[in-house]
Amino acid sequence: MSAEGPARVVFFDKDGTLLADVPWNVDPVRMRLAPGAAAGLPLLAAQGYRVAVVSNQPGVARGLFPEGALILVERRLRALLGQLGVALEGFYYCPHDPGGTVAAYRRDCECRKPAPGLLYRAACDMGITPDRAWFVGDILDDVEAGCAAGCRTVLIDNGNETEWRLSPVRLPHHVASDLEEAARAILAHDLARDAFGCGLRNARRAARPEHAAATGRHA
Ligand SMILES: [Mg+2]
Ligand SMILES: [Zn+2]
Repeated sequence: MSAEGPARVVFFDKDGTLLADVPWNVDPVRMRLAPGAAAGLPLLAAQGYRVAVVSNQPGVARGLFPEGALILVERRLRALLGQLGVALEGFYYCPHDPGGTVAAYRRDCECRKPAPGLLYRAACDMGITPDRAWFVGDILDDVEAGCAAGCRTVLIDNGNETEWRLSPVRLPHHVASDLEEAARAILAHDLARDAFGCGLRNARRAARPEHAAATGRHA
């Protein structure tokens, strides 16, 4: 990343985004990177982007697997990314579901996407503000969580979103067909923003006196 400011972060949804979607899977042997991940993740890491996962895991609340199974999932994720030379900085998951069957996990919570709770927690742990972060997911609930937290968002439109309940808070900044395209969109966006941001500040500074005089308002 540029020498100015702290490095940026990309949060990824897990199932269907970072990994090929295998419903309710917690078997490490069946975990496979999603299309484009092996190409896209190193592109981001090479530019200094830090990577963490933010995932809903309602299978815990539904009694499909114990929360402890996610330890092995995280370990396998770290290994898969490690093979690409990418460090996984955090693995955040929501084990809850208000319709779950396991009493300890059956509740409304602030961490189940589309709520932004896990993104806030991850950003805080990583020492960044969410506006330094992207959130990449494969459904609009991911986009909504990212927007609610103040992140920029990419939707990987790979067929996993089927309802398309669009609203102003569910509009992604970019749509990509796979993770490599998502990574390239992030890099291009931030490059343009950095360049334009400096230009905009200078333009505003230069324009301020004329603007104030012309409108008769105080800047
Ligand atoms: Mg997903
Ligand atoms: Zn939760």
